[in-house]
Amino acid sequence: MPELPDLVHIAAELRRTVCGQAIVGAKVGDPVVLRLMLPAAFPDVLLGKRLLDVERRGQFLRFGLDGNLVLVINAMLAGRYVLSAHPAARTAKAMILALSFAGGQELQYTDEMRMGKIYLAAAAQESDIPGYRDLGVDLLSEGFTLARFRELASERRDQVRQFLLDKTALASIGNAYADEILFAARLHPKTFCHRLRAEEVDRLFGAIRQTLDHAIAEIASRDQPIGVKVRDFLAVRGRAQKPCPVCGTLIRKVRVGKADACFCPTCQPTDRKLFVDFRNLPAKK
Ligand SMILES: [Zn+2]
Repeated sequence: MPELPDLVHIAAELRRTVCGQAIVGAKVGDPVVLRLMLPAAFPDVLLGKRLLDVERRGQFLRFGLDGNLVLVINAMLAGRYVLSAHPAARTAKAMILALSFAGGQELQYTDEMRMGKIYLAAAAQESDIPGYRDLGVDLLSEGFTLARFRELASERRDQVRQFLLDKTALASIGNAYADEILFAARLHPKTFCHRLRAEEVDRLFGAIRQTLDHAIAEIASRDQPIGVKVRDFLAVRGRAQKPCPVCGTLIRKVRVGKADACFCPTCQPTDRKLFVDFRNLPAKK
């Protein structure tokens, strides 16, 4: 799943490679994820339209098109973008939408789980896109300040990882970077927001900025094709049972809400007896 740092890279690459070009071919694979918000023959309505800009908003990627149209994609858990020469060597089985551009490149959006959504809307109607209008403060915007973050945190009664994942508060953090941010902030993922001390809230704010900035720079420096998910630099996510890069303790996986969280029980201790203290359990082989 592309998260914010991945989407920053994907949007930048698409701006560099296909922006300003006309769409000369459009194919739909599985239409189940399409949501047309205006009467139009899809995908033919896209033919001849120029791609004017590509922008990330929260977890959405927004494609501005000629004729005051916008195509907005929420990739959810399994959506992927792949850019290749047209015609593509192969069409992925999970292809949802393929756009070929006048310059000879093809953008394919695939989704193996069909959980994502593609919206086509008139620009004026854009705010009716579900989840889009309700996006919280964008984490890369000037509006994301320490004062705003303190205010948001003070309104919460849930666990801190749930707070980070709430896209109506913070736009946007997914499972991977929620774990990385909590590790950087040295906070246990099950800590309740209302139990956070003031300095912990401030540390969490700093960790969000620092983790996202670091990831954006790291992904840009690798300069990989947009279909490649660069995650090998992460400290805890996807590293359960491997040693913590800071202290060597084995990284643990724990259920928080509906998702699995990876964390280091030494670097991210809990000072309460609410949870199993993993430090006293023998490591699983
Ligand atoms: Zn550690």
